[in-house]
Amino acid sequence: MTISLLINSIIDLLAVLLLAFGIKGLSKVRSARDANKLAAFAMVLAVVGLLFNSLQEGGISTQSFLYIFAGTLLGSFFGVITAKRVPMTAMPETVALFNGCGGMSSLLVALGVALFSTGDTGTDLNSSFVEIASVSVSIFVGAITFTGSIVAMAKLQGWLSTPSWTQNKIRHAVNIFFFVLSLVAIIEIFSTNNNGIWLLIIGSGLLGIGVTLPIGGADMPVVISLLNSYSGIAAAAAGFVVGSQLLIVAGAMVGAAGLILTQVMCKGMNRSLLSVLFGGALGASSSKSKDVSEYKNITSCSAEECALTLEAAERVVIVPGYGLAVAQAQHIVREVAKLLEKSGIEVSYAIHPVAGRMPGHMNVLLAEADVPYEQLIEMDKINPEFPATDVVLILGANDVVNPQAKTDPNSPLYGMPVLDVQEARTVFVVKRGMSAGYSGIKNDLFDLANTSMLFGDAKQVLGDLLQELKELGIGKQS
Ligand code: NAP
Repeated sequence: MTISLLINSIIDLLAVLLLAFGIKGLSKVRSARDANKLAAFAMVLAVVGLLFNSLQEGGISTQSFLYIFAGTLLGSFFGVITAKRVPMTAMPETVALFNGCGGMSSLLVALGVALFSTGDTGTDLNSSFVEIASVSVSIFVGAITFTGSIVAMAKLQGWLSTPSWTQNKIRHAVNIFFFVLSLVAIIEIFSTNNNGIWLLIIGSGLLGIGVTLPIGGADMPVVISLLNSYSGIAAAAAGFVVGSQLLIVAGAMVGAAGLILTQVMCKGMNRSLLSVLFGGALGASSSKSKDVSEYKNITSCSAEECALTLEAAERVVIVPGYGLAVAQAQHIVREVAKLLEKSGIEVSYAIHPVAGRMPGHMNVLLAEADVPYEQLIEMDKINPEFPATDVVLILGANDVVNPQAKTDPNSPLYGMPVLDVQEARTVFVVKRGMSAGYSGIKNDLFDLANTSMLFGDAKQVLGDLLQELKELGIGKQS
């Protein structure tokens, strides 16, 4: 073993270890920031190691090296700009786009090897079953990931709605046709090598669109994490294509992590993966409810009335939702909570696994405002505590507190675990109007006798509430 090969193996091993520690660290809010940096550093190490080794071993020409280096710099530049500019509320779309880029990269690597390999580099498609199989898998999964992710991004962005025909059973026949087309193409690749590759790209690309297009509503986060897993599988297959152990390991880790996240999300919404993929749109936009007349018993109140109720409370639970992120009211809610705590009121935050628009959205949002981690209570733990809660303050949350999920078997949300806020003595809902949440359906909570609506932008309302609490002298006594 040459020295450069030894150095490269050590760099690879180090990169894999750092990536594994990085992924592990992401599981806790406290360590997530550093873990992200660690995983990013692992990737830089992997790229630098690979380029260095390729140059040393003469695997690539200096000109190719410069092209790859320039491409790496350009990609990194766009990555940094995107990460800095994208608002937290648009993170799912961004993740979908990145997944799509991952799928496309794997597809292009496999395509490059299939079309341009000479046989001298050990990557000739004629050479082995494993190579032909990995090229086929890489193209198949890569194309599904790319088109599926682009459709998911367009739907989340609101550029694409769920066409009505996709809610029809005919979509299964269409998807089976694309699947069979892809299988025929793979058989063609095995029998005649490169012929059939373009058919495989078309068949699997259309399959990605056909599977993702009917999915909508609250099922979208599951699809995004599944596509994330696919991008890992495609990368691992591309690792086999180019003989890179590092890519195989990193791809397998992303694939496995994505699958685990998919399972966690399915559990959080009480949905099986099969019903997400083949059951059509949950809460499709066709059932959107924006009609105020649907509600019979709406009570609204002012910030002053809310402050008076809070003054008399001993235990308050804050329920953050997507609207809190839109309003960017995380800092002011922390100020309100601090004031309440100063006067001896116990405050905690109820965290629903799919509140907001990405996994962990509320944790990240509240961490930005330095809310202590121990005050963030997961749904399973906080639900039994609502009957002993005086006031629940719902800030821009809707679907995650909709009792229909438990009471109405015909509701598209039926079966999704929700926060049992209606069990508390008094519930205040802060939102701008009577618009529906992400799933587009009416929320029975708003009609209940112990619920009062506090209309307005969350930041504005919380500002008024803070002012009222101060005027009542809350927080002065310790
Ligand atoms: P939600 O059901 O989407 O409801 C958010 C509410 O916030 C809306 O009803 C809206 O009503 C209100 N709002 C918007 N802007 C506001 C502002 N500036 N101030 C005050 N209120 C504002 O949110 P959620 O309860 O957090 O539920 C999340 C939903 O998204 C679930 O259905 C989930 O499945 C889905 N989803 C989750 C993820 C994920 O990974 N977490 C990803 C994609 C989708 P007004 O317009 O009347 O103000």
